[in-house]
Amino acid sequence: MRVVVDLNRCQAYAQCVYAAPRHFALHGREALVYDTAPDDADRAEIERAAQACPVRAITACADAPRKAAEMSVEASVETSAPGTGAAR
Ligand code: SF4
Repeated sequence: MRVVVDLNRCQAYAQCVYAAPRHFALHGREALVYDTAPDDADRAEIERAAQACPVRAITACADAPRKAAEMSVEASVETSAPGTGAAR
């Protein structure tokens, strides 16, 4: 799965660190470090951390939809490539 933290939103409350200490840590008082690609087996722990975040800075999603989105982007790039007649 993929995890993204909006660091502009994060206020270093550390609730995610308590909820999922193997995936989130604070270095110093304000620098959050986190696992961007945790194993799917840890989904419940990551979702607990996302729910615990008071400013909703954590977004987690499965890998499968991301791959589908990438395929969609690749398809649109192919259809707009020079010589296909799609681009003007
Ligand atoms: S709980 Fe939210 S605000 Fe607090 S450190 Fe984690 S991501 Fe940042």
